[in-house]
Amino acid sequence: MKPEDGYIAYIVNPKSGATSSNLLGRRFEQYLHKKGFYVKVSLTTSLENARELSANSSIDYDCAMVVAVGGDGTVREVAQGLEGSNKPLLIVPQGTENLLANELGFDERLKTITRAFEAEYVRHLDMGRANGKCFTTIAGFGFDGQVVNRVSEQRKGHIDHFDYFWPIWRTFWNYKFNPMKVEIDGEEVFNGPSLVFVGNISRYAVGIQILRFADYGDGLLDVCIYKCSSKVRLAKHSMMTVLKQHAKAGDVIYRQGKSIIVSSNTDSVMTEIDGDPGPTLPVHIEVISQAVNCIVPENAKPAGIRTRIIRAIG
Ligand SMILES: [Mg+2]
Repeated sequence: MKPEDGYIAYIVNPKSGATSSNLLGRRFEQYLHKKGFYVKVSLTTSLENARELSANSSIDYDCAMVVAVGGDGTVREVAQGLEGSNKPLLIVPQGTENLLANELGFDERLKTITRAFEAEYVRHLDMGRANGKCFTTIAGFGFDGQVVNRVSEQRKGHIDHFDYFWPIWRTFWNYKFNPMKVEIDGEEVFNGPSLVFVGNISRYAVGIQILRFADYGDGLLDVCIYKCSSKVRLAKHSMMTVLKQHAKAGDVIYRQGKSIIVSSNTDSVMTEIDGDPGPTLPVHIEVISQAVNCIVPENAKPAGIRTRIIRAIG
């Protein structure tokens, strides 16, 4: 990409992640200035605003590319604003988890971003749409929905990994294993007490590979259903997942599909999409195939559990 191709829309969430990580966005911006690019910086005031800014850039002839600086929430809104346009998106990861950026092969180093920018290697990114709301990473039903809702209630601005500790602990001891019915492409696959995950990416929080066979550009969403009605079983599922042995376990259903419906005969199942509180059940999820063109590091692999934990501590 050359400066003559047009300006770069630089959409920054000033509230994302821990304060110390804000430097990466500034450093990449300085790099672009040095290379002679015109960078149009916008600070977002809300998630909806991030989507509007990106949608405006997507139809602006003079805009050559969009950069999203923020966490998974910001990236999702910017991606949604770009849906269907062929303008490339580059992510500068600046959130707590950066699940999508990690999946695309980004770490939190400037060099990885500048190399990807220079190589202009593009891959298609699918998205999911849950009751009309888009997501790029994972939708969770049950346990992690409850954790996310607890964290969200307590959230005041910046958030770090430690903010998840007590919500997970409390949810584990109070959790009620409600039944859920899962239909994939018109077929009822399961109906009973369970934890359900639907998504686009292979690595979840701290690198755990729940949807371990997911490919973010294959036009399909991966579904993992953990049959689960007790804390003991939940602990067993967690251990098998960390050991990457869960997908072939007898009490786990692992499938792929384009249209997934999750419902329940109770109204107490909580949901999350992309780490934010999600819609109430029933939820109908459809894949949006090849929604966005993303610039990604060539041949990069997502970081695993060990690397993610070291990064979280460091
Ligand atoms: Mg896929």
